[in-house]
Amino acid sequence: MEIACLDLEGVLIPEVWINFAEKTGIEALKATTRDIPDYDVLMKQRLRLLDEHGYGLPDIQKVIATLEPMEGAREFLDWLRERFQVVILSDTFYEFGMPFMKQLGYPALLCHQLEVNDDGKVVDYKLRQANPKRQAVIGFHSMYYRTIATGDSYNDTTMLAEANAGILFKAPDNVIAEFPQYPAVHTYEELKKEFIKASNRNLSL
Ligand SMILES: [Mg+2]
Repeated sequence: MEIACLDLEGVLIPEVWINFAEKTGIEALKATTRDIPDYDVLMKQRLRLLDEHGYGLPDIQKVIATLEPMEGAREFLDWLRERFQVVILSDTFYEFGMPFMKQLGYPALLCHQLEVNDDGKVVDYKLRQANPKRQAVIGFHSMYYRTIATGDSYNDTTMLAEANAGILFKAPDNVIAEFPQYPAVHTYEELKKEFIKASNRNLSL
């Protein structure tokens, strides 16, 4: 059997921080791993901005409640789960991700956790481990699973490199240009075909 490793934001759901930035008008919160590849630097900036503007977890969760998975995401995920074991490897937090998991039929999600005080202020965050996406793929390989990974951004590239096959999905031009070794597709129909191509089994659409 093969394991499909999926990024979450930008692949199945919209970018939470960008949507929150748009709702609140805090421009600097729009930065993602596409802009700042170092996740720790990016998160420290986000927590500082939240604090400066007096926003806490309940404010972010209110915005999340208005969001839905990307169009076609659920159908794609159901298709994939019939053919692969699927694990979502994300740099989001369970506090953000779980409402989307309900809408996606509760697939397995490995991600980080926020530390929130009694007032709802986000005081810190706990990374599941360093280089978590790549480490998960290494873990699956230690169990002799073959892996096919897909993601849209810099924080996915070590996972793509470690996997038996990597696919860029809806990646911006700069990421596609920097990582020409991966096929780059932009629709779920194309992504299905890439998974079939990357599989070592005889799968059909
Ligand atoms: Mg992403």
